[in-house]
Amino acid sequence: MSYDDENIFAKILRGEIPCKKIYEDDYVLSFHDINPQKKIHALVIPKGKFIDLDDFSINASSEEIVGLLKGINIVAKKLGISVDTGKGYRALVNINEHGGQEVPHLHFHLFGGERVGRMVE
Ligand code: 5GP
Repeated sequence: MSYDDENIFAKILRGEIPCKKIYEDDYVLSFHDINPQKKIHALVIPKGKFIDLDDFSINASSEEIVGLLKGINIVAKKLGISVDTGKGYRALVNINEHGGQEVPHLHFHLFGGERVGRMVE
């Protein structure tokens, strides 16, 4: 499967669709999920064209991998849910069909601001 340039997150990255931005740097863009499942529900996406976590693990540069992980921590701090600024959170990635991934651009969900609950239903 090749990367679909018309996926919704690609359009957000290009500024064609608005988002409620939380943070942006050279490697990541973070914004609030349009349909929040918890009090805080943020998305963190790499700026590069990666379909899912497997694609990212295989094809991203070391800088991109570090940039994404650091970006997640920066966003958690900004939202007050990191271990040092709050009470923690859940980072979750859905991958392909069985993982329930709907948007084919890698994204981490960050859930917090309250107890997140059971890991898997
Ligand atoms: P997935 O199921 O692929 O892991 O998650 C996709 C997420 O993207 C869902 O939580 C959904 O609410 C969110 N989403 C879909 N379209 C938009 C959009 O246009 N803007 C924002 N901010 N979030 C979106």
